[in-house]
Amino acid sequence: IILRRPIIAGNWKMHMTPSEAVKLVQELIPLVKDAKAEVVVIPPFVDLTEVSKVIQGTNILLGAQNMFWEEKGAYTGEISPLMLKEIGVKYVIIGHSERRQYFGETDEMVNKKVLSALSHGLNPIVCVGESLSQREEGKTYDVVLSQTKEALKGVSKEDIANVVIAYEPIWAIGTGKTATAKDANEVIKAIRNTIAELYGKEKADLVRIQYGGSVKPSNASELMAESDIDGALVGGASLVAADFAQIVNY
Ligand code: PEP
Repeated sequence: IILRRPIIAGNWKMHMTPSEAVKLVQELIPLVKDAKAEVVVIPPFVDLTEVSKVIQGTNILLGAQNMFWEEKGAYTGEISPLMLKEIGVKYVIIGHSERRQYFGETDEMVNKKVLSALSHGLNPIVCVGESLSQREEGKTYDVVLSQTKEALKGVSKEDIANVVIAYEPIWAIGTGKTATAKDANEVIKAIRNTIAELYGKEKADLVRIQYGGSVKPSNASELMAESDIDGALVGGASLVAADFAQIVNY
């Protein structure tokens, strides 16, 4: 049997001031305390310290939305893995499509960040996914599998199980359009096969692969019922405690 614990992560994007963040997470704590899945909240950087304090002793884990690959230096505006580690961050989103699209992140940068995160004991949530035009041109598998391989270059056999992949078709993010559960599962299976080619099947069976893109309370259980979908990366619906809790407790 395959024992992959589902991981449900809420990407708050650029929402919630520190005081709003504290309120949201305080609301969330009692609603998700019995969750079977691993629960992660991913607030903006300036909220992390406060949220970290509030979730002490609960089953909620902390993630960051991005990081730079260097530990320190003259990199104005960037955040280092050491800073995230010290305040109790466990997961870090790498290569979200919004960062690739609006902030020029390339596969090469994504790879550097993944390697840096792992070397600092942070678990990367690596985002991959095709655009609408790529899907329409029949390039979904090419794009997604190539992004996966590029992101994982140099990741060791020891580290691969610490990586989480999030399959997020760009056309489904924030649009209300969701990939069908079957479609998402097929792409995720292909990602897992690619990981198996690189690291062996046993390792690939340990890697958690989430689906992301307009996950809501109404579609979460159908997605999660699929064989290879090991959780969700949730944007919009993670900003309302009751909605996120319903997804977590799918
Ligand atoms: C995301 O930002 O990772 C995401 C999936 O957003 P949404 O759930 O709002 O589509």
